[in-house]
Amino acid sequence: MFKTFKFRLFLSYLSLSAAVLASAFFLINDRVERVVLSSLKTKLADEASLISSRLTPADLSSPRLNDLARELGGRAGSRVTIIAAGGRVLADSELDAAGVEGMENHAERAEVEGALAGNVSYDLRSSATLGKVMLYAAYPVSASGGKVSAVARLSVPAVEIEAARSMMSQALLAALGIAFLLSLLLSLAVSAGFARPFNKIVYASKKFAAGEFSYRIQKDFHGEMGKLAETLNSMAASIEENIGRLELQSQQLSAAFTGTAEGVLMTGADSRITTLNPAMEKMFSLDSAALSRPLLEVIPSARLSEICARVVSEGAQLSGEMELTLPVQGLFSVNASPIFAGGRTSGCLLLVRDITAPRRLEAMRRDFVANVSHELKTPLTAIRGYVETLMGGALDNRADALEFLGVIHAHTLRLDNIVSDLLKLSSLEAPSAGLKKEPVPLKALADSLIAGLASVFSAGKAEVVNNIPAGLAAQADPEKLGQVFINLLDNAVKFSAGSPRVEIAAQELPGALKITVSDNGIGIPSEHLPRVFERFYRADKARSREMGGTGLGLSIVRHVVELHGGSVGADSAPGRGSSFWFTLPV
Ligand code: ADP
Repeated sequence: MFKTFKFRLFLSYLSLSAAVLASAFFLINDRVERVVLSSLKTKLADEASLISSRLTPADLSSPRLNDLARELGGRAGSRVTIIAAGGRVLADSELDAAGVEGMENHAERAEVEGALAGNVSYDLRSSATLGKVMLYAAYPVSASGGKVSAVARLSVPAVEIEAARSMMSQALLAALGIAFLLSLLLSLAVSAGFARPFNKIVYASKKFAAGEFSYRIQKDFHGEMGKLAETLNSMAASIEENIGRLELQSQQLSAAFTGTAEGVLMTGADSRITTLNPAMEKMFSLDSAALSRPLLEVIPSARLSEICARVVSEGAQLSGEMELTLPVQGLFSVNASPIFAGGRTSGCLLLVRDITAPRRLEAMRRDFVANVSHELKTPLTAIRGYVETLMGGALDNRADALEFLGVIHAHTLRLDNIVSDLLKLSSLEAPSAGLKKEPVPLKALADSLIAGLASVFSAGKAEVVNNIPAGLAAQADPEKLGQVFINLLDNAVKFSAGSPRVEIAAQELPGALKITVSDNGIGIPSEHLPRVFERFYRADKARSREMGGTGLGLSIVRHVVELHGGSVGADSAPGRGSSFWFTLPV
């Protein structure tokens, strides 16, 4: 309550009025005292002059002088004392003859001294006889020849001065009382005028402090408070706008942070991880437990930690690549930038990209181009050689010419096979490669293909058995599925020994059909088995070439099966035979 605005206002009003009143009191009091004193003095001096002129030298030595003094005193309404030139009291209106006799010598009283020197003199002091403050006025009584023969002294109690003083004190008290009341009323009225806007502003400030910057002060007041409210409102509006902008920015940043495919990781200057984005967590199988742990502990790569440490110490950007085995295996590209705060490097920002797959693809593409060139080069070189021989004269020998043309024809066929297999592969890999799926009765499809390949089988003296259960159908593209069967059957005959026996079987698995083509051929050594589905990979190079193989057949098989959503595989025992299988989802 003593700290309230209202009380302070009241106190300042009150002290102001008290100060004004007190100074007025002291100024006026002094003046009034002086005015009262001077009028008393004049009155006493007048009477003293009258009495002095009334006193004759005979009166002064008369035994009735005391009675005369009493009479004059009664008339003047004051005490009259008559003092001889030596200071002895001759008469006093308030005493009898014996009393006068007992009075001490008055020669040294200030007013008496003055009067004896011939001047009207005054003194204001406490009377030794009466114990009250008295005003004394002494007037010289002149003898003949201008000599002072006695002093007529009048005195009155200075009650009027006292009365004036007490009147002034009472007036001051009353004024103070009124000032108190007025101050109270005034402070109440003024603070009531202030209180409403003031309270509104305090309320709004609390809202702003609590972060509610959309709140606005309803301004139905003017003056300084009105300006303050306006300022607060516009301050809140600009803070609200800034916060909105910052929020938007932070949302955009956070969307970029969470949505980017690049791994983002931040560390403090102490190399401890402070932030991870979801891509980073996924890339290295991390979770929030990695936060605040040292980088080297989470991603054990000396190269990465060194990059980070250099970025922090040098404050410059760095990039590089790192090969990892832990926590995951792969090749990663790293871009590291310093994080600045307060004018110094406070950490490191890492952008990490998994480049394992792109690098593998690049390598595969390089290998593929080299393989294709190599595959094309051999027949082309042969063709060129034979053509040049023919041009060089061999054409004249009809038998040689026919033989060379046969060889050229064979190589041309090989080139044709390679190019058509490559075209098949590229059409299967094209993003537009579509499947025309329909229910395909598997046994019937295999039968018709076996019939179509009858010449191949009879040339190889092969026996082909179709053990696919009747009524088994797959949802597939019949033409492409036919290609799969043809390639597998062709291989089974190509890589056979003695009297080839080929069996086609099928079985139902949960959610898929598994089709197997097995033979009793030369088999595939285990070191080659995992790679036979790769382009141009040949386990038995010589035989493949001799049989006009392109090394692309199994790769076409894998592509077609994968396009159907299935998978491929092979089991083999060298010398005993191989069995190739593929699945088709049901
Ligand atoms: P190719 O045109 O040489 O037949 P493929 O891609 O069809 O090419 O086969 C790749 C390699 O896998 C062949 O060169 C051969 O070494 C091996 N291979 C494929 N099928 C069989 C099989 N049934 N028996 C033994 N080896 C096979």
